[in-house]
Amino acid sequence: MAKKTVELDKIAINVKSHKLLKKLLKENPKLEEIMRNSRNETEALIGVRNWVLEELERSPKALKYYKSEHAGRDMFEALRWRDYAAVRILDYIDHAGKEYIDLNLRGEVAVSNPVKLIWLAVTHGTGGAKPYFFEDMLHLFRQFRGEAEPQKPAKEQVEEWMSRYVSGLDPRIVRLREENRERIIKILIKKIDNKENKDSKFQFKPGMSLEQKYLQMLEWWKDWQFHLKFAVRDPDDLNEMLGESLDPDSMKILYGAKQAGIPFFVNPYYLSLLHVRVPYFAIGADLAMRYYVVYSQQLVDEFGHIVAWEKEDLVEPGKPNAAGWIMPSHHNVHRRYPEVAILIPDTVGRACGGLCASCQRMYDFQRKNLNFNLDKLKPNETWPEKLERLMEYFEKDSQLRDILVTGGDALMSSNKSLEKIFAAILQMAHRKKEANKNRKEGEKFAELLRVRLGTRLLAYIPQRITPELTKVLAEFKKKASEIGVKQFVIQTHFESPMEVTPEVREAVRRMISAGWTVTNQCVYTTAASRRGHTAKLRKVLSEVGILPYYTFTVKGYMENWFNFVPNARAVQEQLEEKVYGKIPEKHREAIKEFPLNAETMVENIDELKKKENLPFLAADRNVLNLPGVGKSLTYRVIGITRYGRRILEFDHDATRKHSPIINKMGKIIIVESKSISEYLRQLEEIGEDISEYQGVWGYSLGETEPRMPIYEYPEYDFKVTEKYTNLAIN
Ligand code: SF4
Repeated sequence: MAKKTVELDKIAINVKSHKLLKKLLKENPKLEEIMRNSRNETEALIGVRNWVLEELERSPKALKYYKSEHAGRDMFEALRWRDYAAVRILDYIDHAGKEYIDLNLRGEVAVSNPVKLIWLAVTHGTGGAKPYFFEDMLHLFRQFRGEAEPQKPAKEQVEEWMSRYVSGLDPRIVRLREENRERIIKILIKKIDNKENKDSKFQFKPGMSLEQKYLQMLEWWKDWQFHLKFAVRDPDDLNEMLGESLDPDSMKILYGAKQAGIPFFVNPYYLSLLHVRVPYFAIGADLAMRYYVVYSQQLVDEFGHIVAWEKEDLVEPGKPNAAGWIMPSHHNVHRRYPEVAILIPDTVGRACGGLCASCQRMYDFQRKNLNFNLDKLKPNETWPEKLERLMEYFEKDSQLRDILVTGGDALMSSNKSLEKIFAAILQMAHRKKEANKNRKEGEKFAELLRVRLGTRLLAYIPQRITPELTKVLAEFKKKASEIGVKQFVIQTHFESPMEVTPEVREAVRRMISAGWTVTNQCVYTTAASRRGHTAKLRKVLSEVGILPYYTFTVKGYMENWFNFVPNARAVQEQLEEKVYGKIPEKHREAIKEFPLNAETMVENIDELKKKENLPFLAADRNVLNLPGVGKSLTYRVIGITRYGRRILEFDHDATRKHSPIINKMGKIIIVESKSISEYLRQLEEIGEDISEYQGVWGYSLGETEPRMPIYEYPEYDFKVTEKYTNLAIN
C-alpha cells in the first residue's frame, strides 16, 4: 500500500463527518453491529459482503447483473432501485484497496476502500473521510434499505421544468438582445472612432454622422467577419461589452486567466446573447452560455497542468495511435473507429468562433499549439499537396466511409478553402469507387457514404451561413450524391435554448434548404443539467429543424470541475426526463428517411411529435466520450475516494464497431472530479431546489442507449472486405 495512504488512514475525521457517521450507524443498526464486532478491516469487509449478498440473492436477476452474467439495456431496466445499491456495495468490496491514478489530482494515487474508511471512523475516529464521503454513504444505505426511491416525474412535471427556460426566439428575449446589440454597437463605434481597429474593411467614411455610423454598424452586424474582427480578447473589454456587469470576483478570476495565458475570444453577436440585467421571466436562463465564456477558478489554477484526455489525439505519423490506427500526419487526421476519421484542415478552420470554457482543446492552447491568430492560420502553399496526401489515406483505407471535417470549426474556413476540401473529397470518393471495380466481392473497400462538417458557428456566429455558403453546400451535395455519398450532415453544438435565435433559425433554414441534415451535440454542463433544461433545448432545436445527436458528459479533469456533472445525473436525465421524448419503436424506420428529405425536416419532425404527442424529440444518446474507447454510458460505480468522488468502470458501447484493440483494452476507469454533494451544492448556488434531484444519488449504474437508426450507415449493395488496413496492434 502506498505510504501516503497509510498516513491518510491516520487522519482524524472532522466534526461534521462524525455527525454524519453517527447518523449512518443509527439508521443502519446491522451495519453498526458489523463495524463494532469486526476486529479489523477484513472482518468488516466480509461482514458487509455477507449481509448484502444475502439480500441480493433474493433478486436472481440483479445477482446475475452483479456477476456480469447478464448485461444490456433490458437487464438494466429490470433492476430495482435497491438492487443498484446492493450491486454498488458489492462492487466497492470487490475493488477494496485498489489504487487508481487520479489525474484530477495531478497523478496522485486514489485508493478506494469505503468499508475500511467506515470501520476506521467507527473504531479509531480516523480514516480522513470527508463529509461528502459520508453523505454518499448515507444515501447508499438508505437506497439499500429500499428507502428514498425517487418518484419518477410525470410528463406534466417535466413540461413544467421545461417551461422554466425561455428560448432565444421568445419575442421578449429578442427585444432584450436588440438592447444589448445597441449597447455593444455604441462601444464599438467609439473604438473605431478612436482608431483602435486597424482593419480597413470596417472603417467609417469621413464625415459620417452618429446615426449613419449606427446604421452602418447594423449592416456590418450581419457580416460574420465583423464578429471575428471585433471579438474581445481581454477581460476588461469583455466587461466593457457586458456593460461593466461582471462582479469583482469574476473579474479577479478573468485577470488570473489572462495571466495564466488562457486566450479570450468572444464575439459581439454571442456577447449580445448574455443578460446584463436579469429579466424576471428568464432568471438564470443564460447561465449555460455565460459559464462557457466566463472562466472558472479551477481552470485558471489547472492551466499549465492539464493532461490530454483523448489519448488517440497523441499522434506520431506512421505509428499506431491509442486505438491502433496508423495515422498519416501529426495533426490532420484523428481516428478511433474503423468507419470514420476526422479531418482537421490546415486552414482558419483550426480555430473556432469562440473558446468554450470546458473545451478539451484547452490542452492544446496550453501547449501553444492553438491560438486565435486568424490571419496566420490561413492555408500556406504546401496545404494543397498535403490535402492530397491525406485524401490518399481515406482512399486506401478498407473501412473508412465517413469523413468528419472539423477543427476547431469547419466553417471557420473560407468558402474558397471549403470548396478545395470538397473538391479533394469528391476526387477521392470517385477514385475509391473506381478502384472497387477491380476488386472481387468480399474484397471491396468501403466507399464514401457520409460527409460531415463539425461547427459551432451556428451558435457562435450564425451570420456565417450566407447564401454563398449555402450554394457551396448544395453544389457539393449534388455532385457527391452522384458518386454515391448518401448522408450530408452539419454537426453542431448548442448548449442552451437561449442560443436559438431568429438568426439561427434562418441559418438552419438555409442549411436544410441545401439538403443537409443538422444534428446537435450538447455538452452536459452543470448549468445545462438543471431539470428540464436539456429537454427544452431538444424541443427548441427540433422546432428549427435540428436533430439532437449526443448529450456529452464534460470531459477532462480538475480544470473542468466547474462545468462537470457526475455521470449519475446523465443517467437520471435519461430515465426521468428524456424518456418523454422517446420515439416509439414503430417510427424508428420512418425517421431513417428524414435526412433523405432534409428540406422538409421541420415539418417531418413536427408531424411525428404531434402524432405521438411528444413534447420533444429525444433522438440523442447521453454518453461520455472515453479516452481510447469512444462513446459510452455503460458503467458501474466501483469505488469512491475519501472526498466522496466516485470511481467509475466503463465498458465500451457494444452496439457499434470498434478497432479490434478494444478486445485488449479492457475496461476504462474514470475518477470523477466532483462528488454528488458538491454538485448539488453548486446547483443550490444557482438557485435550484435540490429536493428535485434527490434520486441522483442512486444512479450508480448505466447502460448506453441504442442508437437511432437515423444515424446508421446505409447498406452497400456489395460486400466490404473484413480486412483492416492502416491498423497495427501489438
Ligand atoms: S466549438 Fe468545440 S472545438 Fe471549438 S472551443 Fe468550443 S468545444 Fe472547443
